[in-house]
Amino acid sequence: TSFGFKEIPEEEKSRMVGNVFSNVASNYDLMNDLMSAGLHRLWKDRLVSKLNPFPGMKHLDVAGGTGDVAFRILETLNSVKSRATQDVLDDNLHEETQIFVCDINPKMLNVGQKRALERGLGEDKSLIWVEGDAEALNYKDNSMDGYTIAFGIRNVTHIEKVLAEAYRVLKWGGRFLCLELSHVEVPIFKELYDYYSFSIIPAVGEVVAGDRDSYQYLVESIRRFPSQETFASMIAAAGFQKVEYENLVGGVVAIHSGLKI
Ligand code: SAM
Repeated sequence: TSFGFKEIPEEEKSRMVGNVFSNVASNYDLMNDLMSAGLHRLWKDRLVSKLNPFPGMKHLDVAGGTGDVAFRILETLNSVKSRATQDVLDDNLHEETQIFVCDINPKMLNVGQKRALERGLGEDKSLIWVEGDAEALNYKDNSMDGYTIAFGIRNVTHIEKVLAEAYRVLKWGGRFLCLELSHVEVPIFKELYDYYSFSIIPAVGEVVAGDRDSYQYLVESIRRFPSQETFASMIAAAGFQKVEYENLVGGVVAIHSGLKI
């Protein structure tokens, strides 16, 4: 070409773009473990214990990515199956549990489906993988018992739209739960955390994922995300009641919750 670059054929280009995406998706779980020192596992456990899942529930996990939250919900249900589900079955009230994992990126969902197979959940009919946008959900009004979003709301274009959609699809009595990186206000710990996020995270991103810029962006998006109090008032503005939040590790992450009542 006139710029002296070699023209890349179309199919070669799409293969390269595809590689970049699968790269992100397959590195995703490793990076989570590295950057949170494995803590994201405990945070997700906490999220699911607050959800209090029950057999027969219809649950929507938005920005569900590679399935971490959905797997925990199902595993919680499977571990109580012997008693609770049997009671429900005996009462003839049994409805099939449905856990929808909704994500905008099909590559993430593909990795999730592979992980489900590895965990022995491949045959589980309760787990349903769907491509979809948190800002315009493809579900009926008042159709879900629960809604979770973990490390997903920070990167959407319109937080208000996501909250409005969460409210719309939940049944009356349904619970909204959001796990997100938040703001640390504890002196000294705050300075250490700033150092960690501005210096160490981009460096680890470069070495492990070969992608400094994405991890730099990640850190900046954490700074831009509303404070715990502001985010709580946005959830209330969407219509939710009993809005609360719990800080974990001094506010490194927060779990916000609300009820549609
Ligand atoms: N919830 C998973 C977890 O905690 O491991 C994945 C979190 S990952 C940091 C963020 C996910 O949000 C990505 O899988 C991305 O594709 C998804 N995402 C971003 N924007 C979205 C949108 N508008 N609707 C649905 N998913 C979205």
